[in-house]
Amino acid sequence: MKVRNQLQNKVNVITLGCSKNLVDSEVLMGQLRANDFDVTHEAKKNDANIVIINTCGFIDNAKQESIDTILRYADEKQAGKLEKLYVTGCLSQRYKDELEVEIPQVDAYFGTLELPQMLKVLNADYKHELIGERLITTPKHYAYFKIAEGCNRPCSFCAIPLMRGKHVDRPIEDLVKEAKRLASMGTKELILIAQDLTYYGLQHYGERKLADLLRNLSDVNGIEWIRLQYAYPSQFPMDALDVMAERSNICKYLDMPLQHGSDNMLKIMRRGISKRRTVELVDQIRQRVPGIALRTTLIAGHPGETQQDFEDLYEFVEQTRFERLGIFTYSHEENTHSHTLPDDVPAEVKQERADAIMELQQGISMELNEARVGQTYKVLFDRKESGHFVGRTEFDSPEVDNEVLVPADKDTHVRLGDFANVKINSASDFDLYGILVK
Ligand code: SF4
Repeated sequence: MKVRNQLQNKVNVITLGCSKNLVDSEVLMGQLRANDFDVTHEAKKNDANIVIINTCGFIDNAKQESIDTILRYADEKQAGKLEKLYVTGCLSQRYKDELEVEIPQVDAYFGTLELPQMLKVLNADYKHELIGERLITTPKHYAYFKIAEGCNRPCSFCAIPLMRGKHVDRPIEDLVKEAKRLASMGTKELILIAQDLTYYGLQHYGERKLADLLRNLSDVNGIEWIRLQYAYPSQFPMDALDVMAERSNICKYLDMPLQHGSDNMLKIMRRGISKRRTVELVDQIRQRVPGIALRTTLIAGHPGETQQDFEDLYEFVEQTRFERLGIFTYSHEENTHSHTLPDDVPAEVKQERADAIMELQQGISMELNEARVGQTYKVLFDRKESGHFVGRTEFDSPEVDNEVLVPADKDTHVRLGDFANVKINSASDFDLYGILVK
């Protein structure tokens, strides 16, 4: 192999999975850049001599995508198109031993918390002074903002604690420092993420500190939107809602995966909350933060789910009318508690139930969107596509929620990354259309 110095090494980082994995890739890229590596993220033209794949190991489809990506680059290495191939992230954390046997072309596999070890193999130093620094891969006006790692919850179906370990908070002062640096680089929207956002503070401070963190981040100049993702319903920190209601730069938006709407399933899934308490919580959130958009995620076909459980879920979605909703079909994950139960819901029934819920949600979303016609909203513009400027209201997270489309005609001038007011003149099930207004 041709001997190269750092400057001659070009690294292409590939990220699979969730926004938390993306932040890990950004931190890795920051460290590589600081060690004089030429580093790219998911470069189309693969002229890198080193490829690092940051994998996802969450559920079947995601695992398959990770394996297919590793195999694709293993073939490229076999064909002499790249010199070194490294794999990290959740799939590697969970199946390292098996992967080392099945795909030996990979030079080394690393776990989710082994960044220093990976840098060492690349003859790079782990620079402690860079903690909180990273190479942002999203459009610079928004950034995912990981406030904690790991999870202490016992959800029966979930393999994430196996891959990410116990909940560990990042101190408020470190997060404020990072937010100030991001704001100075042009970030206007912080998307707060963790495995369990509402657990924030219990590990480092011994008490829930999400409300305090929100106040501190809300005081950072230049941050115009703070968005909350991955809240957990049980023991929800209600004081955080008061901060959301009082601070205009905290989006009236909350992503809170609820997973199901039947008491029987919430018990089997070990969610630690009943249907009645869930309904109460949703009502309290909507009362304390008027106009808030609630996003949730559900699972169809978990072991033990009866037709009656599904009907309870359907009724729950029908009555709650979430502004945003996603649903997965259950995936039988080894070493989770649910894996000790028979996977007794046939695959086609899982899919039928998920499809029925999404069809119901499509109708609800259409009605809620039609109610926004004639209103004017502050929109953050992300991109230009198919003759439209495409943006989001404070009720929309990137990549998963609705978008606002404004015709990019000769009289309409929008700078991407800027906010502008848009009057909505029509709606579809998952998008809004409008024109710029003063
Ligand atoms: S809170 Fe989320 S990450 Fe944690 S165990 Fe439950 S589903 Fe998994």
